[in-house]
Amino acid sequence: MPLYDYRCIVCGHQFETRHGFDGPAPACPACAASEVQRVITRAPAVAGGMMTEAGSGGRATKEQLRSKWAEETPKLREKLVSKLGEETVNRYAPSLNANYD
Ligand SMILES: [Zn+2]
Repeated sequence: MPLYDYRCIVCGHQFETRHGFDGPAPACPACAASEVQRVITRAPAVAGGMMTEAGSGGRATKEQLRSKWAEETPKLREKLVSKLGEETVNRYAPSLNANYD
């Protein structure tokens, strides 16, 4: 099974875990929060790397990650705000407020 990196939105703990492609995201081992976010620091060996996924050797990878991130982050933030409140999110997950022009 591929190895994935995750970062806990709540406490910032970063960890890695293995699970299937369709497996559910794990809970944070440090604080047991389920608000964890995939961190793409390496390409899953199975996929043969992000280059393969991007389909155009070498270009696009960074941009694709960036746009993916920009797309996912507001959704995640919205979910967290509705659950934890604006103030909590601002305090514990300021990175979600980052501007990804
Ligand atoms: Zn945590």
